[in-house]
Amino acid sequence: MRVLVTGAAGFLGSHLCDRLLAQGHRVVAMDNFITGSPANVAHLREHRDFQFVLHDVTNFIEVQGPLDGVLHFASPASPVDYLELPIQTLKVGSLGTHKALGLAKAKRARFLLASTSEVYGDPLVHPQPESYWGHVNPVGPRGVYDEAKRFAEAMTMAYHRYHGLDTRMVRIFNTYGARMRPNDGRVVSNFIVQALKGEPLTVYGDGSQTRSFCYVDDLIDGIVRLFERGDSEPTNIGNPNEFTVRQLAEVVLRLTGSRSQIVERPLPVDDPKVRQPDIARARATLGWEPQVSLEQGLLRTIEYFRTLICK
Ligand code: NAD
Ligand code: UDP
Repeated sequence: MRVLVTGAAGFLGSHLCDRLLAQGHRVVAMDNFITGSPANVAHLREHRDFQFVLHDVTNFIEVQGPLDGVLHFASPASPVDYLELPIQTLKVGSLGTHKALGLAKAKRARFLLASTSEVYGDPLVHPQPESYWGHVNPVGPRGVYDEAKRFAEAMTMAYHRYHGLDTRMVRIFNTYGARMRPNDGRVVSNFIVQALKGEPLTVYGDGSQTRSFCYVDDLIDGIVRLFERGDSEPTNIGNPNEFTVRQLAEVVLRLTGSRSQIVERPLPVDDPKVRQPDIARARATLGWEPQVSLEQGLLRTIEYFRTLICK
């Protein structure tokens, strides 16, 4: 296959490129580096099946030659990033998704949307199955991300129903691993970097809010399965093991051997109180479930940040 990956210089996009190339596919990678980095794909530059295009996907996307797939990952994803980039976040989720869908239609390619657990907002149903419609504040600060992704899902379904496009939608739950930016503000990277530097770990609120953390290799495995043999219904991909944020801080301290303190900071507005994927659908339709425990995944990620910080 020859596929386009948008957001290819980001955390997940770059891992996806690695996996697709390893499976023998040809990859056209597209990014404007708004939150990504050339360093994430530098190791692929000489690969004969890899091509990089610098482009903002909110503008018309042109790709020469045939395409079998379009995997749309472009979007700021860390709350800190999308709060700093509200308009770009709304544009890439709406205009960018429209352009990527239009390209897939023109090339008769399969389309995959990287959606998010944020479509469930601050959920009133726990854990979250795909059938839950969510509890989102459209005018709160996080609305720029949540509503852009909800629009993107609606647009993807419209292309599927109206144009008969072959589509997939993955609702990604909190994922971590190598190539997260040390300062991207997400909880796993923040805690590891703080622990390694001997700085206090900043727990927002009292740390009783929960998240369920998926190691990047597991996530990419689920996404590739969904792309290859899934269907057009939204599919949760994430690790169902749920932890409080304070528990995460304690595990990071133990695994790094750090003597940092844990300090409390104000809880961001509309911060979801709980989050845990119901992955029954992924299990049944893809035969997928995560293999890497939080401890195993954190140890690998700590090694990555240790190397980065000690450089
Ligand atoms: P990231 O910020 O590391 O990567 C996003 C990439 O998209 C960056 O390289 C950025 O430069 C690029 N981009 C943004 N706007 C663009 C535009 N207009 N044109 C071209 N490129 C653009 O984030 P990530 O964690 O790798 O997330 C990737 C995708 O997965 C996003 O769509 C995100 O919403 C989704 N997702 C991620 C998580 C997670 O836990 N990492 C959870 C849910 C959903
Ligand atoms: N969080 C925290 N300390 C930090 C960063 C984040 O306590 O330094 C909390 C945040 O308030 C949220 C959870 O950790 O409850 C996950 O935050 P993240 O930004 O990783 O992603 P989210 O799941 O909110 O999109």
